[in-house]
Amino acid sequence: MRPPRSTATGTTKNKPKASDSLSRTERPFAMNKRNYDKEMLVTMQENAGKRLLLHSCCAPCSSYCLTQVAPVFRTTVFYFNPNLDSEEEYLRRKGEQIRLLKETGAADLLDCDYEPEAFREIAEGYEDEPEGGARCKRCYLLRLTRTAEEAKKGGYDFFGTTLTVSPLKDSEALNAIGFALAEKYGVRYLPSDFKKRNGYLRSIELSKTYGLYRQNYCGCIYSRRDLSPAPCAPSE
Ligand code: SF4
Repeated sequence: MRPPRSTATGTTKNKPKASDSLSRTERPFAMNKRNYDKEMLVTMQENAGKRLLLHSCCAPCSSYCLTQVAPVFRTTVFYFNPNLDSEEEYLRRKGEQIRLLKETGAADLLDCDYEPEAFREIAEGYEDEPEGGARCKRCYLLRLTRTAEEAKKGGYDFFGTTLTVSPLKDSEALNAIGFALAEKYGVRYLPSDFKKRNGYLRSIELSKTYGLYRQNYCGCIYSRRDLSPAPCAPSE
């Protein structure tokens, strides 16, 4: 199933730009950190059987996240990653996502075509930011905005993201963006910090179990340029 293109990316004239909420979501975050993992567990306990649209960055990261949410929610994985630096990489990661879902039967898939212009638009002027900096916050917002829009359109009860499984991703920022979008679109956000309870380690183990392609950079051309030592789901 392919959702219409250019809905949350600012390329459609009458749609709000993904960057519209930036001032709100890029503000400094509270000093007292919330336990988003605990919040997720409580939310799941109270909402078993509801429908979840789970944005997935890649098969390796989703492998563990799905073990947490799929037994509780009727889950659909949403593959929307215009940040990837080439169509070849996009299709390779998407192919692995599809294979994982087929092998596990954990969830359905809602995918998108490759839309690199959406990422280029939000990354412009932020090319020299380090991984984890302002460009990444915009990248989170881009992907979660589309997820919230699709969740609203598809009548899902919740939306969420696998991105919090990575130690290099800012879970505070991701959850703040998720809650802000939930308010904006009227769909509940599933908070998470999937890296807790050895989630990241488990994602590496599961990737080995399923023989998944595990990229050695986060995804965009800048992260490939700056190849970091502990990427999204690193090869060993
Ligand atoms: S490093 Fe990763 S999260 Fe940051 S902008 Fe690039 S693809 Fe997005």
